[in-house]
Amino acid sequence: MKKHNFSAGPCILPQEVFKQASEAVIDFNGLGLSLIEISHRDKNFIEVMDQAQSLALELLGLENKGYKALFLQGGASTQFLAVAYNLLNKKSAYLNTGTWASKAIKEARLFGELVEVASSKDQNFNYIPKGFSVPSDVDYLHITTNNTIFGTQIKEDYNFEVPLVADMSSDIFSCQRDFSKYDLIYAGAQKNMGPAGTTLVVIKEGILGKVDRTIPSMLDYKIHIDKESMFNTPPVFAVYVSMLTLQWLKNLGGIQAIEKINQEKADLLYDEIDRNPLFKGFAATEDRSNMNATFNLVDESVKDLFDGIWKDADINGLNGHRSVGGYRASMYNALPLNSVEVLVQAMQAIEKRA
Ligand code: PMP
Repeated sequence: MKKHNFSAGPCILPQEVFKQASEAVIDFNGLGLSLIEISHRDKNFIEVMDQAQSLALELLGLENKGYKALFLQGGASTQFLAVAYNLLNKKSAYLNTGTWASKAIKEARLFGELVEVASSKDQNFNYIPKGFSVPSDVDYLHITTNNTIFGTQIKEDYNFEVPLVADMSSDIFSCQRDFSKYDLIYAGAQKNMGPAGTTLVVIKEGILGKVDRTIPSMLDYKIHIDKESMFNTPPVFAVYVSMLTLQWLKNLGGIQAIEKINQEKADLLYDEIDRNPLFKGFAATEDRSNMNATFNLVDESVKDLFDGIWKDADINGLNGHRSVGGYRASMYNALPLNSVEVLVQAMQAIEKRA
């Protein structure tokens, strides 16, 4: 019996992907060999890498537009510095919307001047700053589209006159955006794409080659592009499972189709948070994330009772991050609507018993 998995990441993936992936670990493509025991230079794996790259670009609507997709290692955290290494010549701009944005800022400061264009730190990052301006002489603006810990999400695609870089780790492939407005997108696989171990980096090639410094090979996007994401041994299992998940999403109807389902799940949960007098939402209403819903009990004295109810309902991963407290329900692409219904029932059950 599978649990209702609201884990923030690593997190739920489609059940059929788990099955296909486990079969490939035993026998890949009927080769009599495991996926993880063949060379990454074997044509069977090269096909996986090619397909993963083209599916990523296709789903984002970025084919034939000068973009390249890479599957790198070191997590999204390594991209915090790789972005600055490759793009920051003199000055960069960052929007500070939470813990991950702050970590990206910390790394980029090592490489040059940095302007924090706005921050929501004054209210423990429970909103997305609005109406800020961006200096026209920066090398790029960096944003975090979805703030996994605080449960806020940038809903618009900004139109500043500078290159746009986005950490989309926790909402990539979940909602439609005009991805062609972004010059560089990165996302750790372990939310909407695959297991931990690879990071998708989508780059508009034309933005590279503008910094003066020497870049170490493993952090040099140009080298990874030239070597077709095979500069060194890629994380073969993580790339394979990502490919399967992207294929699953394509078969479902792509981002347009999953966005509707994600909206339905988010509406169901936020409606209950707003209706139920025992709960209050953490994030500002207009900035609520459709991926990570953060909420608290109005009266903490019923915490043990509520925790017992949701655990008995086979729910996993609902505890909030320590910097917010309360609860966080992560509703990534693969989470069925039924799991949200079960959570809502648990919230209604405590209302009757408290
Ligand atoms: N950015 C965001 C928005 C995240 O949610 C996370 C991880 N939860 C990271 C960056 C860091 O990713 P990683 O652990 O892959 O380095």
